[in-house]
Amino acid sequence: MLPPREALVYRSRLIGDEETLGLFGGGNTSTKCRLPDMLGPPQPALWVKGSGSDLKGCEPRHFSPLRLDPLQRLFERGQMSDEEMVACLERCLVDPKAPRPSVETLLHAFIPQPDIDHTHADAILALANTRHGQTLIRRVLGNRLLWIPYIQPGFALSKRVADAYRRAPDAHGAVLEQHGLITWGPDGRTSYARTVAYVSTAERYFAQQRRRRVWSAAGRAALPAARREAWLEAWLPVIRRGVSRQRKMHLAYWDDPEVLEFVNARRLPAVARIGPATPDHMLRTKRLPLLLRPDAALLRQLERYAAEHRRYFERYHQPGQALQDPSPRVILMPGVGMLTTGKDATDAGMVATLYRHAMRIMRDATLAGGYTAVSAREAFGVEYWPLELYKLSLAPPEAELSREIVLITGATGGIGRAIAHLLVDRGASVVVTDLKPSAVQELAAELNRQAGRRRALGVALDVTREASIAQAFAQVRRAFGGLDAVVSNAGVAAVASIDRLSLQEWERSLAVNATGHFLVARAAVRWLRAQGLGGSLVFISSKNVPAPGKEFGAYSAAKAAETQLARVLAIENGEHNIRVNLVNPDGVFEGSGLWQTIAPDRARSYGLAPAALEAFYQQRNLLRAKVLPRDVAEAVAFLISARSAKTTGCFLPVDGGLREAFPR
Ligand code: ZN
Repeated sequence: MLPPREALVYRSRLIGDEETLGLFGGGNTSTKCRLPDMLGPPQPALWVKGSGSDLKGCEPRHFSPLRLDPLQRLFERGQMSDEEMVACLERCLVDPKAPRPSVETLLHAFIPQPDIDHTHADAILALANTRHGQTLIRRVLGNRLLWIPYIQPGFALSKRVADAYRRAPDAHGAVLEQHGLITWGPDGRTSYARTVAYVSTAERYFAQQRRRRVWSAAGRAALPAARREAWLEAWLPVIRRGVSRQRKMHLAYWDDPEVLEFVNARRLPAVARIGPATPDHMLRTKRLPLLLRPDAALLRQLERYAAEHRRYFERYHQPGQALQDPSPRVILMPGVGMLTTGKDATDAGMVATLYRHAMRIMRDATLAGGYTAVSAREAFGVEYWPLELYKLSLAPPEAELSREIVLITGATGGIGRAIAHLLVDRGASVVVTDLKPSAVQELAAELNRQAGRRRALGVALDVTREASIAQAFAQVRRAFGGLDAVVSNAGVAAVASIDRLSLQEWERSLAVNATGHFLVARAAVRWLRAQGLGGSLVFISSKNVPAPGKEFGAYSAAKAAETQLARVLAIENGEHNIRVNLVNPDGVFEGSGLWQTIAPDRARSYGLAPAALEAFYQQRNLLRAKVLPRDVAEAVAFLISARSAKTTGCFLPVDGGLREAFPR
């Protein structure tokens, strides 16, 4: 048999693995046992989940041990503020370094049952959020569950449940109105089995209901896929501006059949305005989604939403509470689909996952007799509850380039790869593009592992083809919902003196090293202007522009065209706060595919053995420095960041210092 804490972790993981039982920190579990005490024999203790951690994949360190006797004595108190409760819980910790215990700890302490599981199961919420929920629960789940009318989590709720238990000690658990399920038992196996049994019964009930009735007739048809795409291209930049008033947001777009059925339903406007499925969701989804009419003034609709949130704040806030970002996190668009917002794609994805569960709960509750939710006042109590906001404060502070979405061309080469890694390190989301689909996918996977979040998107892209650029940008729209910067880096090299240079080689160099930059920059500038949030374009140029070398004509001429292109872009886009700068590296060998192909020819041009070429480049610069991809990446990160906010139309050499390449 496992020791008590390990058995609790095992059971908690089983619950956490089941998405329909709760998500992202929702729900908590406990077990009662005895723990060694420094003053004498082992004392009664409670292991309970810590605040802010998730049951999914939880570990022993996510649970807090508390002295049970003093906790249970708190039951005699008439009332207790949240601050006082948190302070008491912390003083009862057996291990002061353990995480802050769940805000629902007293609930676990006051019920004198050895093992307790608390979940926000979808099917239970659908019953508990239905008009006449209490009657329905009794009819569907029997009479061994206590019914607790809605009350915000904390001391009073814990006491209310414990009072009900004292009157009916043979109960298996309780349903908390608009909140979730609690089950208990003499051991963990029983409490868990009860959760599973009650939830399964409720699920079977709804499966039957769905067979008998449909959720709703469609109020309007979805636009065909191509028109949804065109709508998104035209309007997503405007929506991003609208939701980025406080901080830049990522948006994720969803238009699968489940979402389209929901947003196109005739019932949607009425149902979407009722409120959250469980207060636990609101921290990420906000109380209400924005129901956006796709054919009316979008910015005005976004402003109206924010104004309504401000009024809600004004009406209910207590002294000392600060207004959170008033923009919507869920945007429902009849005919088009759903957008969710977040600080990055992982965050926006979590909002979508939560709202999908809410959608199913709303649909099922509607079928079962009418969806209901907590009042605006009660919702506010949770949305602005300091103990809930504490969970968010556990997230690490945001990095310098956090919320920036940067597209990099030629990302799988030595320089491109170094740029991608550094930008992800500094908090940015990156779109890594290159010709070969498998290479960009691998790089994106590597970057996502590095970040531990979805911060990279791999997209195959040929910078010389307009259609390829359009397709790549469409993927960025769906995954990240915006664009803030482009690192135009893709390039090819050809070595030959001009008298021996073929037309084909010349044209190929111009196509990639000049036209490619033009096509990518044109698409990017259109997007950035429509978005109205400024932006930064960084072109990787070459020392060959100010100081050309022999037998490098096709490359140097095309790079000169790229340089003039960048300068004109800087002139044309300054009024839109779009900055355009160049980085001029020289002799970057490490990881470079370009150098591998041309090194023998370049060495011949200088009358050197190929192996001596790198040392030759190092010796000719003032610092005698070996220039690395990482050095170029640093210059790029600087030019993207706000640290260079007053710099545009400039080039920054990263070449160890070359006198002949000094600007004149
Ligand atoms: Zn709860």
